[in-house]
Amino acid sequence: MTIAFQGIGIPSSCPIALGPAFIDVRGRTRASQIPIAADQVDQEIARLDLAVDAARASLEAVRNQIPHSTPIKIAEFIDAHLLMLEDAALLEEVRRIVTDRLCSAEWALQLHRDTLVRVFDEMDDPYLRTRRDDVEHVVHQIQSFLQPDTPGSDLGSRDLNGFVAVSRDLTPADAILLNHRGAVAFVTEYGGPLSHTAILARSLGVPAVMGIQDVTSYLHPHELLVVDGETGTLLADADDRTLGYFRQRLRAIEARQRRLRELINRPSQTRDAVPISLLANLELPEDVETAKSNGAAGVGLYRTEFLYLNRSDLPDEEEHLATYAEMVADLEGIPITIRTLDLGVDKGATPVGDCGSSVCNPALGLRAIRLCLKEPELFRPQLRAILRASALGPVRLMLPLVTNIQEVDRVLALIAQLKRQLDRDGLEYDDAMPVGVMIEVPAAALAARAFARRMDFLSIGTNDLIQYTLAVDRLDGAVNYLFDPIHPAILRLVRMIIEAGRALDIPVSMCGEMAGDPRFTRLLLGLGLREFSMQPGAILDIKEVVLAVDTRELERRTDALYANLDDADPSELLDALNQG
Ligand code: PEP
Ligand code: MG
Repeated sequence: MTIAFQGIGIPSSCPIALGPAFIDVRGRTRASQIPIAADQVDQEIARLDLAVDAARASLEAVRNQIPHSTPIKIAEFIDAHLLMLEDAALLEEVRRIVTDRLCSAEWALQLHRDTLVRVFDEMDDPYLRTRRDDVEHVVHQIQSFLQPDTPGSDLGSRDLNGFVAVSRDLTPADAILLNHRGAVAFVTEYGGPLSHTAILARSLGVPAVMGIQDVTSYLHPHELLVVDGETGTLLADADDRTLGYFRQRLRAIEARQRRLRELINRPSQTRDAVPISLLANLELPEDVETAKSNGAAGVGLYRTEFLYLNRSDLPDEEEHLATYAEMVADLEGIPITIRTLDLGVDKGATPVGDCGSSVCNPALGLRAIRLCLKEPELFRPQLRAILRASALGPVRLMLPLVTNIQEVDRVLALIAQLKRQLDRDGLEYDDAMPVGVMIEVPAAALAARAFARRMDFLSIGTNDLIQYTLAVDRLDGAVNYLFDPIHPAILRLVRMIIEAGRALDIPVSMCGEMAGDPRFTRLLLGLGLREFSMQPGAILDIKEVVLAVDTRELERRTDALYANLDDADPSELLDALNQG
């Protein structure tokens, strides 16, 4: 009889895995309260220090095993834990508890852990709340050296090739070790989609299901498991039909991934030899490697928000520059489009307090370019850093959420002023660095020609353009059903923007999610789009469509679809375009 457990799915590049269970029962053990005598305090503190040293040595050993070719800088996750181990305040407090309460190091560590976890649990920011896991992991690491007899406190050196690793809690270090030993999936009792282990699983390409309560106690070692990271389901004791179904799905996924990998070196052009630029959207500097390994011709959107999030101060010019310079160097001549700060409700709170008078409706309020123009101390360091980065390689600057031409004129004047400043400071920049805007507000789409006249390029941000045109909050599940990329109004606006670019001979790209969805590729090519920017994992899917089509035929058929927009169901028109 198939038993299904439901957790939180982490799909990774391969969403499914089958394999025997390796059950790791370590993690989050509770210490018992053991009193000590006053003359034992020094000895107890020495025991704590030894355990901390051992935990540090074990983390450093894992860190040294990380291959340089690993796409994301996973060493940074380990460094975060090493830093916590170095944190004098953390250990000082534990030592104080041992001394004041005359208790064992294990108990003192647990008391301090409980206090820290409570602080994290009360945080509003979901990302920061998830950092409680790091406290848990570091405490667990020390505990496991204080109590070496805890069952299975060492992963040992076993070969786990093909196994599904089922753990109570998985530290990033353990996830790396398990992956090295050949584990094909992770299942955990604790953890969520924002945890470092989840981020790691994604970048290692290992599917995971997290947060299944008590799962380690329900499973038997070596029993065959099915992990579906897409739906967050774990199956045990599956019957033959179910297993057959998942095996077939896995084979199909693997075959498709092999086929797509073969496309990587083929020039991205249609059958009638029209070159199509396939670019990557990046959120973090580490994503550069993933963009390159998927054959991105450039970065069409680098979202710089991460530089501002989860901190109380603002990044200065040098910090901006260091980040951009490293990315430009890593990209080795591939162009990058750096979008200036686009903080708003959808990306976390604004980093400055005053949100103006429109706090009741923050999606329409002081966000993105509006915030930057109001808060020059936010904006200037970033603009100067982008200009300076342009001296190091091909860089484009992109402004989000523009509404009117006056905003653009103000930014262009500011850039001219900053260039004069840089000249005076003797700092280099590329005087011809292209400056473009994202068309995300319906008003800007309708006035696209005016923007095209002043800018070097346009980029269509469909995520916001759809939200604002259809009056649908993109984060609100209750109205999600209205979020429709092929609503006739959206198609008309998209076409209008592409035509404005053509009329003024400037490139137009699309960097909203629509660009990375193969269902829309034919339609967008037919509307005249030639530059698509998307999450790197989608590039080869889009390339597959590009290689198979003829733009002349698509343009003819899309014209017919466009002429029929008000008379037929757009989804039926789209299906017909995709089928034929
Ligand atoms: C968009 O709005 O389409 C876009 C790409 O920007 P973001 O999703 O970062 O708002
Ligand atoms: Mg946007």
